Amino acid sequence: MAYIRERQAFGEPLSRKQALRHKVAEMATEIEAARHLVYHAAACYNAGDDCVTEVSMAKLFATEVANRVAYQSVQLHGGYGYMSEFPVERFFRDVRLWTIASGTSEIMKEIIAKRLL
Ligand SMILES: Cc1cc2nc3c(=O)[nH]c(=O)nc-3n(C[C@H](O)[C@H](O)[C@H](O)COP(=O)(O)OP(=O)(O)OC[C@H]3O[C@@H](n4cnc5c(N)ncnc54)[C@H](O)[C@@H]3O)c2cc1C
Repeated sequence: MAYIRERQAFGEPLSRKQALRHKVAEMATEIEAARHLVYHAAACYNAGDDCVTEVSMAKLFATEVANRVAYQSVQLHGGYGYMSEFPVERFFRDVRLWTIASGTSEIMKEIIAKRLL
């Protein structure tokens, strides 16, 4: 947010460009949806319910969102997004792990499907 408010391109901040504003709105909406799935899974767990489906959905969705958001964040930074001086470059590399470790996205889908079908 700070970067696109500050960065000027073609006579105005990036944050004034509708295509980029819409991208930010989508990213924020996906993050909020992921947060609520995670909170819901945690609440189910705390209540002592069977929460395997909810946890698998939260893990699947939140880690895929994290990857999409990190990808778009690098894109919003332009060339700086690729440089190690900017934290977003590190976020982009780090987040790649989370659709793999602790059960891949494919395996999360298998667990969810097994519970549903
Ligand atoms: C940095 C890091 C830290 C880790 N830390 C831990 C740890 O602390 N403890 C621990 O136990 N493990 C840890 N792991 C291991 C991690 O959990 C595994 O890498 C992960 O579960 C995937 O297993 P795999 O690497 O054997 O991939 P594979 O099982 O070989 O899978 C390769 C690809 O095939 C897909 N695939 C496999 N089977 C199916 C299927 N039936 N249907 C559809 N697609 C499938 C996978 O989703 C994946 O995309 C870590 C891994 C990394 C990279």
